[in-house]
Amino acid sequence: MTSDNADRSRRLLVGGMSAGLVTAFASRASAQEGGAAAKPAAAAASTPAEALQDPTTKYPKPPFPAQTQEWPGLASKMDPKPDHGEESYKGSGRLAGRKALITGGDSGMGRAAAIAYAREGADVAINYLPQEESDAKEVVALIEAEGRKAVAIPGDLRDRDFCNKLVEDAARELGGLDILVNNAGRQQAKESLLDISDEWFDWTFKTNVYAMFWLTKAALPHLKPGSSIIVTTSVQAYDPSENLVDYAMTKACGQSFTKSMAKQLAPKGIRVNGVAPGPVWTPLQPSGGQLPEDIPQFGADAPLGRAGHPAELAGIYVLLASNENSFATGQVYGAVGGHGGP
Ligand code: NAD
Ligand code: MG
Repeated sequence: MTSDNADRSRRLLVGGMSAGLVTAFASRASAQEGGAAAKPAAAAASTPAEALQDPTTKYPKPPFPAQTQEWPGLASKMDPKPDHGEESYKGSGRLAGRKALITGGDSGMGRAAAIAYAREGADVAINYLPQEESDAKEVVALIEAEGRKAVAIPGDLRDRDFCNKLVEDAARELGGLDILVNNAGRQQAKESLLDISDEWFDWTFKTNVYAMFWLTKAALPHLKPGSSIIVTTSVQAYDPSENLVDYAMTKACGQSFTKSMAKQLAPKGIRVNGVAPGPVWTPLQPSGGQLPEDIPQFGADAPLGRAGHPAELAGIYVLLASNENSFATGQVYGAVGGHGGP
């Protein structure tokens, strides 16, 4: 093949590739040919520049409009609307063919992870509560728009039998399971310990701790080497607030579970990592996660000066599940807006 023909077939071949793949392909082709470096430079020049984004002004700063919602809340009713990456997340095949179950996948961090996973090539099952069907439908449509399989399984994670069934149904519908994201959570602010009833305490622990235990146990027989378990913990695990006592205790459990299970499962080639968000604008907050008077200034004390949006954490959930992160297990990745990390 003459070098002109080689150039033309390379151009035809890369016509349908993303900019990133074009650059990667051109670099590899040039290296294989031992050729001069001109080609990769030309390809790189065609890659559109990614504009710098100032994280202090990327999203609205407090004050937020005062608002409350009945628990568990809907993303669609929040003002401003949270950004889950619907318009912005760009995939590049990092999770091609993977099969993920995400709890709390209808909204917040779970929705951001679901969108990102689908755009990275994964099929995704989401769990949520029946009251959240309208949010869940939007996520299903977004996953299917990527040509990926979406499985919607509503139900209450406080029920052990439901947790077992959820994992079995997800694995059957997806044809396997290799990513489990324990993300669903219950957070209700209470000013005094005296305001936390046994029933309330149990509700928080069943949702945030028992469900993680039951789901992970049920998932283990399905997980092959290379699989990932991801736990959404919190800044509350290591810097607990005075009005989130029960919740913060459960998040410390999540952090501990991440680290012990990482050691237990490392010899099996299964990685376990956590994500510790700081203040993020999700329905959990105006539906009782914060005292109503704290909503307008939610996130204002973060060094970045604002609350985060779920889309800003999507890349962490992708990284933790992907092969490129294969030496990281037992880690908790913080996204707290500038305060100290886990
Ligand atoms: P979110 O309200 O969007 O998501 C929480 C989800 O939990 C809900 O959508 C709901 O589907 C699910 N859920 C709650 N109780 C359930 C139950 N009994 N059965 C089944 N599902 C149930 O809010 P989010 O902030 O994205 O929360 C996701 C995770 O992030 C939670 O674990 C939360 O503790 C954690 N987190 C949030 C923040 C924040 O500021 N938003 C900060 C740190 C950690
Ligand atoms: Mg929700």
